[in-house]
Amino acid sequence: MEMDVPMGEVPMRSLLPALQATADALVSHAAAQSAAAGKPVTCSAGCGACCRQVVPVAPAEARQIAALVEELPEPRRTEVKARFADALRRLAEPGLLEPFERRGEWTAAERTEKGLAYFALGIACPFLESESCSIYADRPIACREYLVTSPPGFCAAPTPRSVDTVHLPTRVWAAVALEEAGGGDPGSISWVPLVLAPAFAAANLDGEALHPGPELLRSVYARFTRDRTGEGFGR
Ligand code: SF4
Repeated sequence: MEMDVPMGEVPMRSLLPALQATADALVSHAAAQSAAAGKPVTCSAGCGACCRQVVPVAPAEARQIAALVEELPEPRRTEVKARFADALRRLAEPGLLEPFERRGEWTAAERTEKGLAYFALGIACPFLESESCSIYADRPIACREYLVTSPPGFCAAPTPRSVDTVHLPTRVWAAVALEEAGGGDPGSISWVPLVLAPAFAAANLDGEALHPGPELLRSVYARFTRDRTGEGFGR
């Protein structure tokens, strides 16, 4: 792989293009292996069923998503902001917003339970338009890492038994989140649900930590093999 890596002191956000490219390469390799084993990817354009799941993003991605929304031209910016506000309202109505704000305290079982409750609400990602991703080139890493091999119709009512996904040995988004948390324990991942990304960015305006680009990238890469990150996050 070839990628551009900033040499100076940069925030994790500056490395997202390189990390997205890394995830794309890993996923492409895993999808080819899956196809060779008789399980080709069945995702197709115009199917946005998985865009109603909880999408976990790393804090750097949450900031990037908030910046992306602010850079949208009008009236699209106002429309997308209204969709984020609507998603939060729909999450708050059944009392799920407050638990999602305490997501750092969840056990693995609670993560599954809350994820199913979220999916049952049918909240579409604010970037989903005509069942397609309107920010495809900039979509979060977790979106890149989620591909199914089971019949697409099963994704409308997913269960661990009915939906098969392409197996990835690690999750790049989770390695980024773990690196940002400075944790060594995969359980200490600090993650943000995509629908809370602008709210998270607004509540965390303090400066982002800066590190030399190559050093930071090496550190995230090291986590791919050292930590089996991201398991149990569904996506
Ligand atoms: S960012 Fe795009 S791919 Fe990801 S959940 Fe939203 S619409 Fe779907």
